[in-house]
Amino acid sequence: MKIRIYNSLSNKLETFKPIKEGQISMYVCGPTVYNYQHIGNARPIVVFDVFKRFFEYVGYKVKYVSNLTDVDDKIINAAIKEGVLEEDITSKYSEAYFKLIDDLNCNRPDITPRVTETMSKIISFIEDLMSSGYAYEVNGDVYFRIDKLEEYGILSNINKEDLLVGSRVETNEDKESPLDFTLWKKTKEGIKWDSSWSRGRPGWHSECVVMIKDNFNNEKIDIHGGGNDLKFPHHENEIAQSRALNNHSIANYWIHNGMITIDDEKMSKSLGNLKWAKDLIEEHGGNVIRMVLLSSPYRSPLNFSKETIDNSKNEVERIIGALKQAHFKMSINDFKRNNDFSNELMDEFVGALADDLNTPNALSVTFETVKWLNQAIRGNSLKETNYYYNTLLEQNKVLGLKYEERVLTKEERELYFDWQELIKIKDFINADRLRQQLMDKGII
Ligand SMILES: [Zn+2]
Repeated sequence: MKIRIYNSLSNKLETFKPIKEGQISMYVCGPTVYNYQHIGNARPIVVFDVFKRFFEYVGYKVKYVSNLTDVDDKIINAAIKEGVLEEDITSKYSEAYFKLIDDLNCNRPDITPRVTETMSKIISFIEDLMSSGYAYEVNGDVYFRIDKLEEYGILSNINKEDLLVGSRVETNEDKESPLDFTLWKKTKEGIKWDSSWSRGRPGWHSECVVMIKDNFNNEKIDIHGGGNDLKFPHHENEIAQSRALNNHSIANYWIHNGMITIDDEKMSKSLGNLKWAKDLIEEHGGNVIRMVLLSSPYRSPLNFSKETIDNSKNEVERIIGALKQAHFKMSINDFKRNNDFSNELMDEFVGALADDLNTPNALSVTFETVKWLNQAIRGNSLKETNYYYNTLLEQNKVLGLKYEERVLTKEERELYFDWQELIKIKDFINADRLRQQLMDKGII
């Protein structure tokens, strides 16, 4: 199966080839756990969940690692503001983050390392950068020495000179170059660790490099992912550190998802249009929010509006409604099911996703499948109902909408047949009563 992926490192669509046959190593930058996740943060959660599901569907074994940043100024400030410990903040919002993953019906990453648990390795990584001359210490702070790198800016395609011109007059006199970034910070407030430079904490950019080394046997990986907003400086600085010590750019494929706007405006705290993913899920359900996030190609910007939500709601209802109806029809008729499904439709569906995870094109195959399924249900063809039902279930292994088969109890079946009987003898008053009961139970 030929898979094409847009590689941010080359700015090209490339034919995907994993380092080890049949296996994929994937790392995605996770959240800083000082608050709830807004809808923009939910996009990579769903996008990379679908990437993983797709790779697994076509036969790869995927190891997916995504970190939790549980040491950060924002966490320390939140702890001070609320008068609690940092770990109270991080455990509360880590839990909320995992709940969000579950509510979006995503599978949790295989490993979710935390900074607090990786500290000794981060410190020894910075020591390695020091001893190789890629880092220097000033008054207990440690910086990365950009000038020692031949190339900087290969991911975002900016060169050092342009960056220097663009950078405002640097107030930090300690740094050799305004582009140098912090590896270790001497700190007075908040949680801190001992190091040979000072008591303090690491900068943000080292943790991912260290966690990747740590969880993938010190080897280069296939995919490094994250939101577009992380390209610069975060991913650029991850690459800089890896090139310094490992002489490679961490991953063969860098994948970035596009940003989200709200009613065509940039989402930001200052504009007051920030939407927490949990609130949107509470209002519209996880399936609908998941569908909104799949409705555009992952690299495109995605606009969140009443219209996009309404469309997705409608689409979810069409898919889940058809599945429910088909399943009910088969079970009430005691149809003996088999596992047949349409290879033709699946080839189309998988083919769309193999083209840089084109979810809108894959979804159009799904709606075609829904159309066939509805036709089979209406035509009372149980064999075909079973066939397209299975096809839709296959597709949903990748789409990942929450759907559970409802097994009817003996009483529920009897209720249904009683209702049918009442219709036959034209006792519509009682038939309506049973119909309401069936509807209340969600059977019809
Ligand atoms: Zn990262």
